[in-house]
Amino acid sequence: MKRVAVLTSGGDAPGMNAAIRAVVRYGVKKGLEVIGVRRGYAGLIDGDFVKLEYKDVSGITEKGGTILRTSRCEEFKTEAGRARAAKKFKELGAEGLVVIGGEGSLTGAHLLYEEHKIPVVGIPASIDNDISYTDKSIGVDTCLNTVIDAIQKLKDTASSHERAFIVEVMGRNSGYIALMAGLTTGAEAVIIPEVPVDYSQLAERILEERKRGKINCIIVVAEGSASAYTVARHLEYKIGYETRITILGHIQRGGVPTFFDRELALRMGVEAVNALLEGEVDTMIALQGTEYVRVPLANVLSTKKKLDLRLYELAYLLS
Ligand code: ADP
Repeated sequence: MKRVAVLTSGGDAPGMNAAIRAVVRYGVKKGLEVIGVRRGYAGLIDGDFVKLEYKDVSGITEKGGTILRTSRCEEFKTEAGRARAAKKFKELGAEGLVVIGGEGSLTGAHLLYEEHKIPVVGIPASIDNDISYTDKSIGVDTCLNTVIDAIQKLKDTASSHERAFIVEVMGRNSGYIALMAGLTTGAEAVIIPEVPVDYSQLAERILEERKRGKINCIIVVAEGSASAYTVARHLEYKIGYETRITILGHIQRGGVPTFFDRELALRMGVEAVNALLEGEVDTMIALQGTEYVRVPLANVLSTKKKLDLRLYELAYLLS
């Protein structure tokens, strides 16, 4: 094996750069030429390639986002789009492709293997931590640190003004960010897609806690469950006092990757190159416990990652 390629795709996640760095440096040390594909699958279709040398990835571990840039590419979702991408890839003469991205990107990678036998290895990167078979995906740790820092700041104001704050966090189909942020900041409630919400019960709890002397109230809501405005509308007239809304939005994606995300990304990058060198492809690198393992992409994509709802109970118990 002489030449491999690497791309980042879908939603950006802090730590993607560390994964790119590991693929490039470890690949070069193993005698490979490493080609970066810019703008994810859109760049693959266009042949937007750049050779990455050892020095090109200096000092990127600490940077959020992705130096290769990323994209959402509708054309790649069609067979014709993937055929064009496969043609460019074959013209490039690479013998392996590392795809760093979320579930959508990994689905695309799996199809590239199935339809065109392109040797792909996936690295899970998703701030939602919604990819199955891996305990953690790249970016979620940094994202949660950003979210809990913001909630902590809001708590200061919530306590001073005796107000209820509704904080909307990311999570299209998964309540992981909301749940873990709520659990670790002692929020009064978390509202997530996985659990139906009873606003009357919630309002009663808030009022009881207030009677018991609790002066701040934080409710964390996952964007995929309800908007913060909807939650406020439901609650305000029931609790009889004002709420304040904060939508954290895209600040959750950026920032300096934490130690955890750096280690995860660097080690997954190395393992992805090892998998390519050993010819074990159509697979994803996963962290299970303390071990980095390979899981067939077909298994990853056919299983929905379940939220551990014991943590939901715990969040309520400890709030
Ligand atoms: P993420 O990888 O973060 O989940 P998306 O779901 O937007 O983000 O997927 C990123 C890209 O991966 C899409 O723009 C598309 O090019 C490709 N992709 C997503 N889903 C599929 C699919 N079902 N088939 C083929 N390609 C897909």
